[in-house]
Amino acid sequence: MLDYNSLLIALSFCSAGLAFTFFVSWFVSRSDSVLMTWGAGVACLFVSLLFYRDFVVEFSPAGGVLAFSGLLIGLTLFLGAGRQFRNGTLPVRAMVLTAAISIAAMAAPMLLGYDGISYIVLNIAAAGIMLATGLDYWRWREESPTLILLLSMMYILTAFSFVLCAVVLVYNGHWIMHRAPDGWAENINLAMCLTSIGGMGALSLGLNQVRQTRHHQRQAETDSLTGLFNRRALFDRSQRFSSPVSIVIFDLDYFKRINDVHGHQVGDTVLQTFGSLLAANVRENDLAARLGGEEFAIILSGTEAEAAARIAERIRDGFAAQQFISASGNFTCTLSAGISTCDHDDPDIVTLLRQADMALYDAKRSGRNRVLLYSEETSLAPSDADWTARAPVKSESVIKLRQ
Ligand code: GH3
Ligand code: MG
Ligand code: MG
Repeated sequence: MLDYNSLLIALSFCSAGLAFTFFVSWFVSRSDSVLMTWGAGVACLFVSLLFYRDFVVEFSPAGGVLAFSGLLIGLTLFLGAGRQFRNGTLPVRAMVLTAAISIAAMAAPMLLGYDGISYIVLNIAAAGIMLATGLDYWRWREESPTLILLLSMMYILTAFSFVLCAVVLVYNGHWIMHRAPDGWAENINLAMCLTSIGGMGALSLGLNQVRQTRHHQRQAETDSLTGLFNRRALFDRSQRFSSPVSIVIFDLDYFKRINDVHGHQVGDTVLQTFGSLLAANVRENDLAARLGGEEFAIILSGTEAEAAARIAERIRDGFAAQQFISASGNFTCTLSAGISTCDHDDPDIVTLLRQADMALYDAKRSGRNRVLLYSEETSLAPSDADWTARAPVKSESVIKLRQ
């Protein structure tokens, strides 16, 4: 069996390797500054262990203060990194305060000669910081339940091993020891730290990787101009809706003219404004997407055709009332929309889109600035090209919601 000193050496090698891994990971992905914080935290543990190994061999109050300060700063960096990972910002003030208070409370008795009290304070402070970190992760476990559950359990169990050390020290009541404590509680604590440091490192990196993958997935599904989902996401996510499902396709009227008269940039602003209007008018379970150009769609979950028509009308009204300001003169813009609904459980998105497109075609052909529902008799629209160029079809077969 390894002795206490060998375990300390193992732990310092482990910390050095992990700090190196975090720094290299940060170097290849500079945007993830949390990797830097985690790396700095482990580096502090490494420095702390270097001092602590000397302190175990030869007791010195200054050596103890340095070793334990390194440990407390390292743990505070882990606490801050957890918050940074969640909110994107490092809580520097809270971290400085936590580290300063815990170091002062640990260092004062050590420098006054009561090293036993200093060990107790150190163990309680370390346990408190680790417990807070573990509970912090636990609170936002929805992001990645298994990884966060494991990570938070590791912090909490390691925190309890520090509590155990404090309890044994209090029980023994040796307020002045002039040596490093090395009973069974310290051995358990060291074994626990050895087990958890690698685990915490791997889990933290894994968590970051999961976050990155999700971010890239979201980017691949997002339309960069409007921030809505793109066409691909609409198809990928179309199975997630509960019946009846309604699809509304919107096409801005005479949008080409806006580009021609006011410029492409103003045209982009119109598209962005409409994108925001769509996003504001759908619920959490619905989906709003830009299909391409000036064509958009919403999928409304658990929504009958009439309810979908009311939502589409609200959007049409809201957009028509929107004034756009341009150097070539202020203007408004209208839209046409087609709706299709499926009331059985396995909606065929391709058919729904085709039907909504046919209703939209009739809306365009019968005057624009209107919302029409698809029905069995809705005219068969061509699938692409300019609406105005399409052959006229009978419009009385279309259910008109608005003239
Ligand atoms: P209709 O009422 O029949 O729909 O006429 P329209 O002019 O809206 O339709 P058309 O399909 O003729 O023109 C669509 C225009 O949308 C042409 C294209 O230049 C423009 N467009 C497509 N994508 C973008 C974009 O990302 N930004 C801008 N500003 N314009 C775009
Ligand atoms: Mg158009
Ligand atoms: Mg179009």
